[in-house]
Amino acid sequence: MNMNNIPGQHRRNRFHGRDQNHPKIRIALAGNPNAGKTSLFNMLTGQSQHVGNYPGVTVEKKVGSIQYQGFELEFTDLPGTYSLSAYSIEEVVARDFVLKEKPDIIIDVLDSTNLERNLYLCLQFQELGVPILGALNMSDEVENQGIKIDEKLLGKTLGIPFIKTVGTRGTGQESLLQAILEVVQGEINTTARHLNYGPELEKQHNIIIRELEKDVAFAWKYNSHWLAIKLLENDSDGIQKVKTEHKNADAILNTATECRYWIQKTFAEEPETVVAEQRYAYIHGACREAVHQDKASERIDYTEMIDKIVLHRFLGVGIFFIVMFLIYQLTFVLGNPISDIIDGSFAWLQNFIISRTPSGILRDFLVDGIIGGVGGVLVFFPIVLLLFLGLSLLEDTGYMARAAFVMDKFMHIFGLHGRSFIPLMVSTGCAVPGIMSARTLVNPKDRILTILVAPLMMCSAKVPVIAMLAASFFPENAGKVFWGIWLFSWMLALLIASLFRNIFFKGERSPFVMELPPYRMPTLRGIFTHVWEKSWSYVRKAGTFILAASVIIWFLLYFPRINPGQTVAENDHSAKITTEASGWNSIVRGTPPVTENDTTSSQAAVIEQMQTEGNQLAQQQMVNSFGGRIGRFMEPIFRPCGFDWRLDVSLFAGFAAKEVIISSMGIVYGIGEADVDIGSAKNPLKTRLKNDPKYNRLNMLAFMLFVLIYLPCMATMATVKKELGKWRYPIFLAVYTVVLAWLVATGVYQIGTLLGVG
Ligand code: GDP
Ligand code: MG
Repeated sequence: MNMNNIPGQHRRNRFHGRDQNHPKIRIALAGNPNAGKTSLFNMLTGQSQHVGNYPGVTVEKKVGSIQYQGFELEFTDLPGTYSLSAYSIEEVVARDFVLKEKPDIIIDVLDSTNLERNLYLCLQFQELGVPILGALNMSDEVENQGIKIDEKLLGKTLGIPFIKTVGTRGTGQESLLQAILEVVQGEINTTARHLNYGPELEKQHNIIIRELEKDVAFAWKYNSHWLAIKLLENDSDGIQKVKTEHKNADAILNTATECRYWIQKTFAEEPETVVAEQRYAYIHGACREAVHQDKASERIDYTEMIDKIVLHRFLGVGIFFIVMFLIYQLTFVLGNPISDIIDGSFAWLQNFIISRTPSGILRDFLVDGIIGGVGGVLVFFPIVLLLFLGLSLLEDTGYMARAAFVMDKFMHIFGLHGRSFIPLMVSTGCAVPGIMSARTLVNPKDRILTILVAPLMMCSAKVPVIAMLAASFFPENAGKVFWGIWLFSWMLALLIASLFRNIFFKGERSPFVMELPPYRMPTLRGIFTHVWEKSWSYVRKAGTFILAASVIIWFLLYFPRINPGQTVAENDHSAKITTEASGWNSIVRGTPPVTENDTTSSQAAVIEQMQTEGNQLAQQQMVNSFGGRIGRFMEPIFRPCGFDWRLDVSLFAGFAAKEVIISSMGIVYGIGEADVDIGSAKNPLKTRLKNDPKYNRLNMLAFMLFVLIYLPCMATMATVKKELGKWRYPIFLAVYTVVLAWLVATGVYQIGTLLGVG
């Protein structure tokens, strides 16, 4: 066959024709799911993209560049695929990238512990005529298993250079970069050879190639060798290309049909199957030469042993819930004390500012708006961090994939596809990537269904709100309450899914195939990257988005200022007190802290009285503010749920992002506590809530559930629109979650009241 037709050759020429001063090499990282592509990508580019042990994590491709020996190397991390046959979205993304963007080289990342199956994809790339390089990743595990791979020999047999790597540790980086340059500069030609399908198949293959090459322009554009195999495999995309672009389309398709018929008769099997079998046979042959198992070190298969229990039909689901219980419990037991310390230090900071600056708008803004708003969110950083740590451990050890496996049947009961587990579980961190990972669901109905319930999960933005209320109102059982609400979110999502399935999406489901990676000891670096990436985004969000939202909320709750003399005219006593208060204030602040003995009981009584009345004034101020008006407007709607107007304002603010609920509560209860002028200390938000006579366990439980369910945040809504294309989905989502939240909260509050709990 004519070598000039190979697109790779063509591309290499083009590469040399580019600006020689800043030559850019475009490299795509491809491979099976879980082979370690993202780990290699991070190692090569120094970035910290999310690595995950379950499919669907890398659905969108990611790009990063480095400088190397005068070249700019641009890496693209593609989603994982098993083949290039365009069955699922990942396959289409990967294949389209290779065909349309035409990278200069593909690094096929192979999981060496599963070499034969991984080579299948590798050979398909070779067949496509793209320059290729194999990274034999997980070579550490292979060594542990006592398997020896002779990569030189393997490379010689298959005509592709192979480099051993360990993605998590950075082994093989230099050799890989070196090999990239060699292949791209044409020192190694990886497209010269391709697998031999055996005499019978090759004969038919060549007939089609000859037909294809009759159209020179077409043969220049598409690699005839590859396309001929695609036609033998009856690949719809390949047929389409011929139909629309080849000048003898009919003749070719007829020839292809004849060839397929001939193969079917000769082998008594579908041509696709014969082609696949030949590929595996070829791979098996190559591996028999180059791969050897060290007999002496055949080890006990721990993975199988653990899986016997963890994947048990009945035990499995229970184990999953218990594992999650332990994670939430630990998160709380360890995180809460640290979070209390941070809380205390923010309160200290507020008091410090109060004692050192004159009263006024600026001070109120700093103390209540900024520290009360943003600080409130940062307080929960330790809890969020520990939660992410727990989830990362589950992912990186390989347990999460098992959880998906055992939950499969469980999900089926509720009309959800087993694969829906992953988007829902990812949504436990954040609904945005969760919704994106629903792309792994092939059936559009399953996908929409999953996306519609994913925002019900307990994402990390809801965590601070629920954690704070659990810690304030259920101090002994905070961890259990936390977990209980998580469990509730699952139950609710499954029930709602089953309801929607019966109403909107009747119909068949596609089968479930799930990759079970071996258990792995998570690496420190992997866990660190993982946790860092997520936690940092929490802190960053607090410093940017939440900060901005807090400023707006503070503004809404602080203005318009009322003239104390006017509005509280009917209560001129309190008006007088406030004017006097500043006098008191200066006295109290000006003198060193009064000791117990100095304070006469009458003095204490006066302070207390002024404090209450000052509070009343501040409350009136706030009720009258813009935010207060919104809250009062909402109050009748949420009265059945047991919420007062201050909670309503926070719910209103929570549409921006759920963390903002915490900030706005910090602000509402901060401004409402006008004790600043009297000189008494600011309390942490938890204490203020606990001491508020309006709140008890019952309405707080209702509030937590409301927060869990209602209104996905703006980012989630935007993602749903982007993923499903139509506005009606996010709108439906918003409406149903608010109604559902109201129903659940009202149900809990009313039934609880009837039963006399609270
Ligand atoms: P991807 O799905 O191909 O992007 O794979 P990831 O990069 O997300 O890696 C999957 C899992 O394998 C992660 O838990 C990694 O920490 C782990 N991993 C990646 N490369 C290696 C390696 O060379 N050796 C070992 N032992 N683990 C690895
Ligand atoms: Mg990945």
